[in-house]
Amino acid sequence: MTSITSLDHQFDKNHLWHPYTSMTNPLPCYGVKSADKCVLTLDSGEQLIDGMSSWWACLFGYNVEELNTAAKDQLDKMAHVMFGGLTHQPAIDLGKKLVEITPDNLEKVFLSDSGSVAVEVSLKMALQYWHAKGTPKSQFVTIRNGYHGDTFGAMSVTDPEGAMHELYHRFLPKQLFAPQPTIKFDEVWDESDLDEMTKIIEANHTNIAAIILEPIVQGAGGMYFYHPEYLKGVRLLCDKYDLLLIADEIATGFGRTGKLFACEFAGITPDIMCIGKAITGGYMSLAATLTTTHIAQTISDGKAGVFMHGPTFMGNPLACAVANANIDKLISFDWQKNVLNIEKQLIEFLAPCKTLTTVKSVRVLGAIGVVELNNAVEVAKVQKQFVDLGVWIRPFGKLVYIMPPYVIEEAQLKQLCDAIFQVAKNQS
Ligand SMILES: *Cc1c(COP(=O)(O)O)cnc(C)c1O
Repeated sequence: MTSITSLDHQFDKNHLWHPYTSMTNPLPCYGVKSADKCVLTLDSGEQLIDGMSSWWACLFGYNVEELNTAAKDQLDKMAHVMFGGLTHQPAIDLGKKLVEITPDNLEKVFLSDSGSVAVEVSLKMALQYWHAKGTPKSQFVTIRNGYHGDTFGAMSVTDPEGAMHELYHRFLPKQLFAPQPTIKFDEVWDESDLDEMTKIIEANHTNIAAIILEPIVQGAGGMYFYHPEYLKGVRLLCDKYDLLLIADEIATGFGRTGKLFACEFAGITPDIMCIGKAITGGYMSLAATLTTTHIAQTISDGKAGVFMHGPTFMGNPLACAVANANIDKLISFDWQKNVLNIEKQLIEFLAPCKTLTTVKSVRVLGAIGVVELNNAVEVAKVQKQFVDLGVWIRPFGKLVYIMPPYVIEEAQLKQLCDAIFQVAKNQS
């Protein structure tokens, strides 16, 4: 009898592109049969504790009862209808929740299908805002080591040292890059950290549409936590020079850092905010770009009179219904206590890594734990070591990091951290 559970890995290898890997000589892939709570079950039967939350997305792990129910109930009503000329309860409910939980002046919600698209929408909103005011501007400022997605506008504000600018530079718009903030989250603040950013703005502000950055936590560009005063300073610069501030909370949103949104560390409100990843608790692709009444009004009063974007799956009812159940669950659950508890455990369980000569730095913020090595890892090899240790952790470059589901148990978290120690110890 042929086993129906064994995956056709050969087909996968021959025909399916996986993220950031070669089509013809890809990094190895593990087949997943199912996932429940914080455990992934491979087609080989092995069980792995999940340290990645499927790239920041799963807040409550997998196979979450409330989210399953929300998806099934919505499926019986309608999976999708176009958002042009039609609306529905799941989108309205989601809009209300997002306006409620995000910083106060963010009141207008643009739903889209992925984080990168939410970023494109934010850039277009900023450009259209200035266009509508009769003072068109064409550049964005950001900080180095940022990551904002893989579409062209998003790539243009992503760190230029990554491979992407090199490949596409003839096509990419040229943006302005301030250095990465040097004062870390828990270090003593020094105003001079804003000097370079200030210079760039002073010299170019008449053509700058907005500053875009990831508040406090830079994710895929380096897993780096910078000082909240930097973000406060950027907000003040935006106010002083009349620039818009776009906060990309796609990774940081929904409690991951210990605050519902990372902007709260600095007590600031952006003019435009992008959210995605965890919005549906890891169930399906959905994102949103929120902005102020003033910006929406200005765009709408402009010559175009409309905002020029409208994805086919905008406001997808299934995704909205799951997002609603996810946000309800988050808000009704003592998420902050859980995240801060995970933070405490991460600090304790990752501390031994600090003693290793192979480790450059260990940092923790909220439910994010990062071990930066001195040298880049060999992903395929390290991946296998982790799988052999019963955990799912996927490093990139010198960074071995985890951001587990908020419902992870202490023993599971310990196993994740112990595995990082073991693997880090065996690096060069
Ligand atoms: C992941 C990410 C994006 C892109 O989101 P996708 O859903 O992958 O398109 C944008 N910004 C940040 C900060 C992210 O972490």
